[in-house]
Amino acid sequence: MLLHYFCTQMDITCTKEERQLLERIAAAADGINMPCYLIGGFVRDKLLGRNSKDADIVCVGDGIALANAVAATFEPKLQVSFFKNFGTAQIKLNNGFEVEFVGARKESYQEHSRKPLVEIGTLVDDQNRRDFTINAMAISLCKDDFGALIDPFNGVGDLEAKIIQTPLDADITFSDDPLRMMRAIRFATQLNFVIEEKTLASIARNKERIKIISQERITDELNKIIASKVPSVGFDLLYRTGLLEYFFPQMTLLAGVEIIEGKGHKDNFYHTLQVLDNVAYRSNNLWLRWAAILHDIAKPPTKRFEMGHGWTFHGHDALGKKMCTPIFRQLKLPLNEHLKYVAKLVGLHLRPISLSKEEITDSAMRRLLFDAGEDLEDLMMLCESDITSKNKQKVRRFLENFEIVKQRLKIVEEQDKIRNWQPPIDGAEVMRIFNLPPSREVGFIKTAVREAILDGLIPNEYDAAYSFMIQKAAEMGIIPQP
Ligand code: ATP
Ligand code: MG
Repeated sequence: MLLHYFCTQMDITCTKEERQLLERIAAAADGINMPCYLIGGFVRDKLLGRNSKDADIVCVGDGIALANAVAATFEPKLQVSFFKNFGTAQIKLNNGFEVEFVGARKESYQEHSRKPLVEIGTLVDDQNRRDFTINAMAISLCKDDFGALIDPFNGVGDLEAKIIQTPLDADITFSDDPLRMMRAIRFATQLNFVIEEKTLASIARNKERIKIISQERITDELNKIIASKVPSVGFDLLYRTGLLEYFFPQMTLLAGVEIIEGKGHKDNFYHTLQVLDNVAYRSNNLWLRWAAILHDIAKPPTKRFEMGHGWTFHGHDALGKKMCTPIFRQLKLPLNEHLKYVAKLVGLHLRPISLSKEEITDSAMRRLLFDAGEDLEDLMMLCESDITSKNKQKVRRFLENFEIVKQRLKIVEEQDKIRNWQPPIDGAEVMRIFNLPPSREVGFIKTAVREAILDGLIPNEYDAAYSFMIQKAAEMGIIPQP
């Protein structure tokens, strides 16, 4: 019955290429008399009808030998990369699909490390060491029962019920390798599954064990959560289990509502999650999603209650921008142009909205175009996503004003071509004309020219900029040199 179940699913969800590959592996394994099984993510994803980029094969024997046997059936022979110590090997097909071969193993863990002691084991041992029931299913590639599903923990039932749970005692599973707690939440978010009650309670109980996991691995899982369709699911679980507190306490500080004189502010944690989901709906850009996560990160340290006004968070945009670097460092996120981009958007996230409130001057528009540059569309997406009021009328009014800002930005942009704009006179030219070395004076003159154009004092043209520069320099007692 299970064989039938799987074959039907295989026919529906495996591509022709994938089926040919599995038959090729089965034939090569038969040739060297080695039992082997598809296991883990590939089985799960095929039963769910999802695409796969890789497949894991467990063999009862030497994984490297099987990988070589499979590689030899290709013309020309495929390259095999292997780790001798672990008996694992990998081949990459010409279409990019990767297959990993591992000898079946039995694992035992020690208190201080997620690295287990490994012994050679049986298929059952290997299934027992898997993290979740839905990841422990195997499919035989042996000749006599090719295609049979070997599912000791009823993973199929959990796939149907959309449940994540551990095959063995959850406390032992999570304590042995605490990364599995992150993986549980990641799979729940990616697949839109729920974590079974006892498994969830066990994560909360074992949260402290996350300390033995490197930040790189934690962040790897976190980014997979963020890249999911509805990332708030994962953050909510991370918060409720207490895991988030261990590696990203700045974010948990956003949670909660304080009330003074009957006035409360919104819960900035759940507001942030709403903004994140809104951004995720509009864009797949991981770093724009990070900007959503961090846009209000400085609200807790800037929060004040002002008599007559209520709650304020003055300067949370500027402080938030500053907080990006230490947070990226702490989370081992890359300290490169992605950080710059996220910090820039966090720093600018109030600007478009403030334009929609005050009287709109061309100069304010020009400044936003100049400051946002090529990231203007992303900034506008972030700001639209930031409108999360429950009051429908308020949301509509905001969005309408926002449309006006967008229209006006477009007109100013067309007139002035200010985006990705370089002022007509740069520092090198200032130095040449006045024969100055790199100095404060040069910076001052250059900035004065740029500001005059952005303020609309002079047109965005070389001649006007040149005259203005001569005049500014003269005020400082500097004159052109022949
Ligand atoms: P994806 O590739 O989408 O991340 P996956 O399930 O294939 O999902 P991998 O990390 O590629 O995840 O791992 C492959 C398989 O190895 C898993 O399905 C699971 O059976 C097992 N596995 C991976 N990591 C662990 C772990 N930390 N503890 C126990 N089993 C694990
Ligand atoms: Mg995988």
